[in-house]
Amino acid sequence: MKTAFIGLGAMGYPMAGHVSKSHEMIVWNRTTAVAERHAGEYGTRMAADVADCAAADVIFSCLPTSREIDSVVDALAGRLRKGQLWIDNTSGDPESARETACRLAGLGVEYVDAPVTGGTNGAAAGTLTVMVGGSKEGFARALPLIELFGKKIVHVGAVGSGHAIKAMNNVMLAANIWVAGECLLSLKKMGMDLSVAFEVLNAGSGRSFASESLLPPRLVEGKWPLAFKLALLDKDVRIAAETVHEQHLSTPVMNLVSNLYTAARRDLGENADYIEVLKYMAKMSGEGWEG
Ligand code: NDP
Repeated sequence: MKTAFIGLGAMGYPMAGHVSKSHEMIVWNRTTAVAERHAGEYGTRMAADVADCAAADVIFSCLPTSREIDSVVDALAGRLRKGQLWIDNTSGDPESARETACRLAGLGVEYVDAPVTGGTNGAAAGTLTVMVGGSKEGFARALPLIELFGKKIVHVGAVGSGHAIKAMNNVMLAANIWVAGECLLSLKKMGMDLSVAFEVLNAGSGRSFASESLLPPRLVEGKWPLAFKLALLDKDVRIAAETVHEQHLSTPVMNLVSNLYTAARRDLGENADYIEVLKYMAKMSGEGWEG
């Protein structure tokens, strides 16, 4: 099967690598050097132009937001043909997904939103959790391809549902990171050794993925890698907050989390890692994590 992958970022690069081991693949990335590297590493073919990806039977995309998806759909639209499948692994917004699906359906192209969770480690290992929004037929067609980089793959509903649940997942992640950070900063201020604090908290009922896996390397070992941009998590939380607003629900914590992450993003910049919100949070109290 001829496949195409658009967007070789922290997630797309390894995901495309997995698919390319089983299927012929053409790749496109805004920064050409990355696509060249991918072609060298996996034997994929670099597209001279993004529109060349329209030649594939199945098109994957993994871009920052639904806005960039709209642009690539614009670029490919004139060359798309009936019977193609578009698997969008971006964490996008549900309404845009429905519009894109409608537009592509008009060209005879099936669209599924299939955002992922599991981070760059899960992408490298091919063990991502993938939540798919789309028709039953679209899901059935996408499944064997998604299995090449996914471990837990769930059809969550109609088009847009994948994006909706992904946004809510990331609200829970963002809230957990923030509140765990507040508790650990308090314990640090009281003079407690943070490795001792983690030992207890991670054996207790307050533990979370944040306290178990994300925070200890940063707060105990002082390692702050860039794994997932804060700007992208801020985008996800904002999508969730805007989606529930449209439903006239009252979700004060979600709105607060969105405001905090937006403020942290403004302070830390577009290239900060998501866990760096803790630096912003500590600064709000005139504190830091060093020492
Ligand atoms: P990155 O920032 O690492 O990569 C973004 C990709 O999009 C790059 O290929 C980049 O190209 C491309 N891109 C950016 N802007 C444009 C544009 N205007 N036009 C065309 N291409 C563009 O992001 P991630 O791979 O981390 O994230 C991709 C998606 O996956 C996001 O929706 C994110 O929320 C989601 N996600 C990320 C996770 C993570 O842990 N990182 C985990 C789960 C989901 P270039 O190389 O030129 O910059």
